[in-house]
Amino acid sequence: CGIVGYIGHREAYPIVIKGLKRLEYRGYDSAGVMLYDGTDLKISKTKGKVSDLEARSQQEITTNGTIGMGHTRWATHGVPNDVNSHPHLSNSGNLAIIHNGIIENYEPLKKELIKRGYTFTSDTDTEVLVNLIEDVQKKDGLKLGKAVQVALNQVVGAYAICVFDKNKPDEIVVARLGSPLAIGVGESEYFIASDASPFIEYTSNAIYLEDEEMAIVRLHKPLKIRKIKDDSLVDPYVQELQM
Ligand code: GLU
Repeated sequence: CGIVGYIGHREAYPIVIKGLKRLEYRGYDSAGVMLYDGTDLKISKTKGKVSDLEARSQQEITTNGTIGMGHTRWATHGVPNDVNSHPHLSNSGNLAIIHNGIIENYEPLKKELIKRGYTFTSDTDTEVLVNLIEDVQKKDGLKLGKAVQVALNQVVGAYAICVFDKNKPDEIVVARLGSPLAIGVGESEYFIASDASPFIEYTSNAIYLEDEEMAIVRLHKPLKIRKIKDDSLVDPYVQELQM
């Protein structure tokens, strides 16, 4: 399983697809991609190989965009099929998430969300998390980063996630606990991936998130890393990758 994300000035789609191919060695049963074209979220996903996703998404996504994310899934909750593949959208359609890992307490969280009127289209634990984030965002009037943080503090499990909000299209919020997540820092661009292989040709500066850390990856802004639990700021440690 793997994740890839891009926010910058290049076309995101080819970076994401190529990145997913580099992460194929990690194993997976399905793959998906999200592209933001400046107005809308475009999502394409499928059971099968990244090459299947490539064929399908070239039909389904015909616009360009400079923000994107991609996922290879190793199913833990819900069989491998198109619907259970990531990205998953929140009920409003504003939030998109990709997730590697397991939300262990997704059942009580899901029950509570259903009581609050949320509906679910997949059998995944991940769709519960994206709607939990949306619920927190609405209930408490929080910005995306804060809402992700509050939601993650209610979660038991493991994750590397990327969350994108259509109403805040200059940032991707990422977090990690138990699954790897690296951020490539370029000039006016950021790369996100399970390891550095998807972005090594673009930048040699990488930041590896530690467990229980999250980051707001915002265009034209220095990276802000925080501890999920106590909100303290962490100094980003930039590693020089060997090209
Ligand atoms: N638990 C999630 C799912 O089953 C993510 C699995 C993964 O790590 O790819 O969809």
